[in-house]
Amino acid sequence: MYTVVWETNIAAVLETAIREKPTREATELELTRLMTIAVDAATKRGHALLWESWTNDGAWASRGTCECGAWVQCETRPAPNSIDIGGPAVAVGCPLRKDLS
Ligand SMILES: [Zn+2]
Repeated sequence: MYTVVWETNIAAVLETAIREKPTREATELELTRLMTIAVDAATKRGHALLWESWTNDGAWASRGTCECGAWVQCETRPAPNSIDIGGPAVAVGCPLRKDLS
């Protein structure tokens, strides 16, 4: 019981530290985590993504685009009016793979 409480507190402390002053390693891990989720969702919808990444003031973003034009964007520090994973490639099926749509 004690261990569970301690681990929960450490996770909360780390989460706060990463949010307030993310290290490059933590940011890369977060981007990798987001991209893994995005690839899984897009692949299930038949999309095959080509990725490009960029950085802005310590935050990283990646955009995967399918041949059909659908895209998904992952952001480690999304704007208040944005989300960390979003785009048509994780919402609709690929029209180029008719067997999946
Ligand atoms: Zn597609």
